[in-house]
Amino acid sequence: MSNFETVIGLEVHTQLNTESKIFCSCPTEFQSPPNTNICPVCCGYPGVLPVFNIKALKLALRVSLALNCKINPSIYFERKNYFYPDLPKNYQISQYKMPLGYNGALLLPSGKKIRINRVHLEEDAGKLIHKEDYSLVDLNRTGTPLLEIVSEPDLSDASQAFDYLTYLKLILQYIRASDCDMEKGSLRCDANISLRPKGQKELGTKVELKNMNTFKGVRVALEYEAKRQAHVLKNNQKINQETRLWDPAKLKTAIMRTKEEAHDYRYFPEPDLLNITVGDDLIKAESSNLGELPLAKSKRFLDDYGISGKELDIYISNINLADFFEEVVKIYTKVKEVSNFLLGPFLEQINNNKEGFSAVKIEAENFSKIVKYFSQGRLNNLTAKKVLSLSIFTNEDIDEIIDREKLTQVSNEDELLAFVSEAIKENPKAISEFNEGKQQAIQFLVGQVMRKTKGKANPKLARQMLEKTIKGGSV
Ligand SMILES: [Zn+2]
Repeated sequence: MSNFETVIGLEVHTQLNTESKIFCSCPTEFQSPPNTNICPVCCGYPGVLPVFNIKALKLALRVSLALNCKINPSIYFERKNYFYPDLPKNYQISQYKMPLGYNGALLLPSGKKIRINRVHLEEDAGKLIHKEDYSLVDLNRTGTPLLEIVSEPDLSDASQAFDYLTYLKLILQYIRASDCDMEKGSLRCDANISLRPKGQKELGTKVELKNMNTFKGVRVALEYEAKRQAHVLKNNQKINQETRLWDPAKLKTAIMRTKEEAHDYRYFPEPDLLNITVGDDLIKAESSNLGELPLAKSKRFLDDYGISGKELDIYISNINLADFFEEVVKIYTKVKEVSNFLLGPFLEQINNNKEGFSAVKIEAENFSKIVKYFSQGRLNNLTAKKVLSLSIFTNEDIDEIIDREKLTQVSNEDELLAFVSEAIKENPKAISEFNEGKQQAIQFLVGQVMRKTKGKANPKLARQMLEKTIKGGSV
């Protein structure tokens, strides 16, 4: 490998967050039954006319601006002609000569700058579901607005490609352009990879890689392909310009088609759609819709809240959590306490829920009470978690839950005394072990008091009272 350097460029397709499709009013809803979100336009019936969805343009413009692209003031769509069973009209409306955005750049957190060649709009195709001896076609996805983001070959290894994808996804989520859910297919990635002898300026022969369905898959596929090409070159053989498919089961790439078979798409301007003027007012509006981007948020969280390291990474990669954190600290200003509870029990509950953050119903004001009561000692570790579990997905009032479940922590010696005495009476073995100097015996006794009070005792106080009573010799 050492005599060669790797050159990688990525093509990312992302579904834009619109409610309806790009050229008709069908919903873009993902989980509907097959072939229910369709109409004559997206099914490609002859004689129908596409109507452009302006929301798709606005979101595409927002992405282009976030990627520091130049914007073409006038754009038009072209027909990309090919036959495929899930594309009933036999062409895809796309952009070719006049993309919306061009000559952009994405600055990665590592400081590396990746130039963006182009950002263009197009429509998605449908989905084929292959069964044993037949295939099914679902056209629900046909006509969903897609954005293609093409980088220059500025990436020099697989892990850099991984970083680029991770950061690009974060930006798309921050500006609310796409949910970037790879499982739903709303973010897909193809790669071009070539090797060249170190120091050589011109690029080597490139291979296109497809069918990488996860970011990890992209990284492993690129690592494999770089090794394969190095092996070919070391043996003085030639790399063929071809498209290869990643096989995630075999962890190998295999040839899909060669250059000779490469498609000629016969692009020509779409006659059913007018040219679109991208005016300064639209650009200005979408610039102001960009909001705060990850690097800026990162700096602000460090400056304003003193959050750094791993904790900062969690907030920056989870915009919903970061927003919630900021809402809570506006109400209850003890940053450290709020953050500890959010990154601990709160995140644990979310990670255990299939729907993740979207299932959260608790409001900041209600949540802030848990943290406050916890730090005041009214709730202990156990009861605070219990209250949280009852309110996080319901937003039920915290005070009502504590009342109903009788969860207020018992921090009153008179109330605890009976439980402490009982625990001591029932466990003579633990007492003699404690008297012999075994410290863990006291922990066992604290546990007994917690059990008797259904987790409500203040454990610190229970321990003090136990030690005092045993040492005092009143048993
Ligand atoms: Zn439709």
